[in-house]
Amino acid sequence: MKNNIIIIGGGASALMLASLLPKNSATIIESNSKLGAKILISGGGKCNITNTQMGTEYFLGDRDFIQPALKSFSQHKLLDWMERQKLFPVLRKKTQYFCENSAKELVDIFNSQVKKQKVLLNEKVIGITKRDTYFTVVTNKRKLTSPIVIIASGGLSFPKLGASGIGYEIAEQFGHTIEKTAPALVGFTVQKEQFFFKELSGASCEVEIQIGQIRCSGSLLFTHKGISGPVVLDTSLYWQKGTIVIDFLPHFVWQTIEGSKKQISSLLPLPKRITKAFLVQLELKDKPYNEITLEDMQKLQTLNHYIFAPSGTFGYNKAEVTKGGVNTSEVDSQTMMSQKIQGLYFIGEVVDVTGKLGGYNFQWAFSSAYICYKNIKREIMKREINEN
Ligand SMILES: Cc1cc2nc3c(=O)[nH]c(=O)nc-3n(C[C@H](O)[C@H](O)[C@H](O)COP(=O)(O)OP(=O)(O)OC[C@H]3O[C@@H](n4cnc5c(N)ncnc54)[C@H](O)[C@@H]3O)c2cc1C
Repeated sequence: MKNNIIIIGGGASALMLASLLPKNSATIIESNSKLGAKILISGGGKCNITNTQMGTEYFLGDRDFIQPALKSFSQHKLLDWMERQKLFPVLRKKTQYFCENSAKELVDIFNSQVKKQKVLLNEKVIGITKRDTYFTVVTNKRKLTSPIVIIASGGLSFPKLGASGIGYEIAEQFGHTIEKTAPALVGFTVQKEQFFFKELSGASCEVEIQIGQIRCSGSLLFTHKGISGPVVLDTSLYWQKGTIVIDFLPHFVWQTIEGSKKQISSLLPLPKRITKAFLVQLELKDKPYNEITLEDMQKLQTLNHYIFAPSGTFGYNKAEVTKGGVNTSEVDSQTMMSQKIQGLYFIGEVVDVTGKLGGYNFQWAFSSAYICYKNIKREIMKREINEN
């Protein structure tokens, strides 16, 4: 199998690339027994494909690197492509596009698209070498040779779905720098001081979280391990170590309850269960609001700037993505080709680009695959012209 483009990984970015490439031009190598395993469980089983709000500001990474891919395959072009495949994503939560019924709709399309390529399932890539212009990719079953290898092996999150560090290992082997990787879009575990969060498991509320100069707002969910929910997942993109500040009452105006005879827990716009837990922590009684002292008031208002130092994250087993990855200053933003090794490409999550919650990571997977495809198509045409 010489000359066939080798794609390592059979996830979102690989499937888009293999769908776009001409018939019989690529071989996908996937260690799972099926393609697109992560797509199937994404977005609560409905796959949040993309978002009406698109731009480099929704990503962590070098904006100049991200821009060309997003521009060449915007959310509009992605949706047009989907419509041509008879998939009509629906808008939910105001700006997010999801599959109408199930993520399987998208995976089915990819499965039918990539029939035109060679697909090797249950086959794990274990190494790679390069001699002259040819790479030899070694799997647990065979060796394959090609002048073009695409690393589409994703990040480290969800190892039970096939995630591995092979992409980073190959990149390092060829002299690339890896930006420190960490679980992202993930919940936070708590220190002793916040063990009471665990007792609130299942309760949720709307909050605003400040981390450095960045503010994230949305729903926070208490879990048996700590805190999660959309706003926490977004915050995890920016968190390394240290404190975050949570405003549990982001739009609440205290003056509106001044002089009220009602109990505190009836007045604050939080589920009673949450208010009562915080009252215990603040050593306050749930008394009529007009009976509270200035000192009580000061304690209560810490709910507007609750300082919290996560002890860590829920880790790669629960993280939706891996932040960090192949340093983008060493990859050509117009082609996704390594600037160090001719014929070696990186697409999708393996590079140091991470999207916020809301369909941005699939958009990146698809956009980076598209811009890579455009370049490879040119290369294939050039070769055909030279051969004729
Ligand atoms: C629970 C969950 C929900 C998510 N929901 C969303 C969502 O709704 N919207 C969104 O935008 N993003 C979502 N994401 C993130 C999104 O799934 C990823 O960012 C995206 O799949 C990355 O695409 P990729 O092609 O780079 O990598 P992946 O899709 O991870 O594909 C990489 C593939 O490479 C294979 N592989 C790894 N190592 C080897 C090897 N050695 N040999 C052969 N194959 C190998 C893996 O098995 C995998 O199939 C979610 C992620 C998770 C975990």
